[in-house]
Formats: sequence, structure tokens, C-alpha cells
Amino acid sequence: MPVVLKLSGIEQVYGTGEASVRALRGIDLDVEQGDYVAIMGPSGSGKSTLMNLLGCLDVASSGSYELAGTDVSSLTERELARVRNEEIGFVFQSFNLVPRMSALANVELPLIYGGLRRAERRRLALEALELVGLSDRADHQPQELSGGQQQRVAIARALVTSPTLVLADEPTGNLDSESTEEILSILDSLASAGRTIVIITHEENVAERAHRVLTISDGLITADRALAGAR
Ligand code: ADP
Ligand code: MG
Repeated sequence: MPVVLKLSGIEQVYGTGEASVRALRGIDLDVEQGDYVAIMGPSGSGKSTLMNLLGCLDVASSGSYELAGTDVSSLTERELARVRNEEIGFVFQSFNLVPRMSALANVELPLIYGGLRRAERRRLALEALELVGLSDRADHQPQELSGGQQQRVAIARALVTSPTLVLADEPTGNLDSESTEEILSILDSLASAGRTIVIITHEENVAERAHRVLTISDGLITADRALAGAR
């Protein structure tokens, strides 16, 4: 499979002089299309820093990051915004849905900037909601949905643009075990369908559903193991 994420010698330094922190100290990583990768590591190890770089929310101090063949460090702010909108589907621990707006309208949001007609946006959003088993909740607002349902809407929103990468930060961190299982089985089916997924998690039972688990400690990748689900 082609490599869709390629990090070489990535370093991230916060601050300057004596107060500076080297949050990432040389990350080399290739992720192939269709890979399902979990990133684990203790607090302060650099997970969020790495996540922000992968999601093009921040640019590394040094090293290179290619997303689907494009060197991200050469992009302007405006181009980065396009990449975040079209190439990356974000799923957050706290769902981040827009309140008082229907599930359907929430899922349509990433398509607003794409110049699609309204009917086409609607069709794609309904398709994404169907994928997460929530067609029958399209008209419901977030506050009328359970946590697990809200996270499924957030996954539909992440998928609606057919992004290169689905990037999830502790997606089950606010969910009970039943809703966690729902989310994990949706991620399983996305992985089977060939989506590229990177998930950050503290939970071993969540990480072991991935096909590959990276451990990061003190700004370096210290372990990289393939699991049974890997192709
Ligand atoms: P994790 O998500 O694994 O807990 P982070 O990526 O948040 O780790 O942090 C890695 C290191 O970088 C920590 O030492 C943290 O204190 C430091 N750090 C993170 N963000 C900043 C920042 N904006 N300014 C200065 N230091 C930071
Ligand atoms: Mg963090």
C-alpha cells in the first residue's frame, strides 16, 4: 500500500533558550494507506504534540511531514486550512458538535466550503450518518443524543469529506463501555473498508483493536508493534 503519512526527523521545540522544551526529538514514521494505528504513551510524552502536527494544526520546528505526497511544511496558512478541512477527519474526546443544530447539519458542515450543491451535501451527509447507524437521528440535535450517539455523529462528520486520514484523540475517553464498544466497532469497519486511522488513547483495550501500536516516550517512538488485525 502507498505511504500516506511520512514523517522524517520531526522535532518540535516549545519556547526558546533555557526554558525550551523538546517535545519531539526525532520522529521517523511511515503510515500506509489503510493502516489503523494507535499511539500510546505516558502524560507529557509528546502525544498531543504529535497529533497537532499530524492534523496540520501546527508545523514542526524541524524535519519533514508528507501527507499524501505533499510536504506540509511548504504550505501557506490558507493551504493548511484546506488540508485540515478536506484531507483530515478529526474526532475529539469531547465530540465538539455544534449545539442546537441537527445531526445532519453538523455532518454537512465540512462540506460547506467545498462548493457542493445543497442537495449533494445532504446526500453525502445522510450517507455518512447511515454508515454510523444513525440515519434515524438525522433531525436530532446533539443534546437529544447520548454520548455514544454524539460521537457517532462526530465520526460521520469526520468521514463526510472522504479524508485521507481519520485522526482521533481519545475518542472513547468520555464514553461508557457499551458506547466505547459501538465506537470501536465502527472504527473496525472503517479499517476493513481501507480507511487510514490514527488514534491516540490511554486505554489498552482500545489500542489493541488497532492493527499497529506505537509507544511514545519522552518525545521518541520507543516501540512499534503489529497486532493480529494487521494485513
Ligand atoms: P502528551 O499529550 O503526551 O501528554 P504533550 O505533547 O502535551 O504530551 O507535551 C509534551 C511536552 O511538551 C511536555 O513536556 C509538555 O509540558 C510540553 N509542552 C506541550 N505543549 C507546550 C507548549 N505549548 N508550550 C511549552 N511546552 C509545551
Ligand atoms: Mg495530551
